[in-house]
Amino acid sequence: MIRIPASRVAAGALPQVCAKHGHAAIETKAVKIISKPPVWAAPLIIVGALPYLIVVMALRKTVKAPAWPWCEECASERKTRFSVGFGLLALGLLLFVGAFALNNDTSGLLFAVGLLALLIGLIFALRGGVLPITGAFTSKDGQFVEVPKGSEHFAMVLSRMAARV
Ligand SMILES: [Zn+2]
Repeated sequence: MIRIPASRVAAGALPQVCAKHGHAAIETKAVKIISKPPVWAAPLIIVGALPYLIVVMALRKTVKAPAWPWCEECASERKTRFSVGFGLLALGLLLFVGAFALNNDTSGLLFAVGLLALLIGLIFALRGGVLPITGAFTSKDGQFVEVPKGSEHFAMVLSRMAARV
């Protein structure tokens, strides 16, 4: 787990190293890093999606990172997730069209498989966003940005930078 003070992230004072993969950054991304929803809020979903969202939004801590390091592997992960996601979305739509066009016994099955493809495609496409790829979260108190599966190399360069400041 890598912990970076939120002020450093907000100032863009980060190593030019990808925090997740440890490769040299090829560019930087502006990204809003948010905290995870608290575990105790989950039962609120039973009460309704709205109360849950209100609680989660009220407690959410956001750190605006103007220059988060982004490496080649981040870019290719994003490309893969988008290709798989949009591929499945297209397949799902195709199966829907097929189901309506055939309009026979297999239509129900085609429709069900199409729906599944759409759902999985949507999840992949959403996981292709900049924030999911960074793997970074803001801590509950908003003081730190945490990368649970962060790279050792990033942590080392970061601590050297911190020592110089
Ligand atoms: Zn990366």
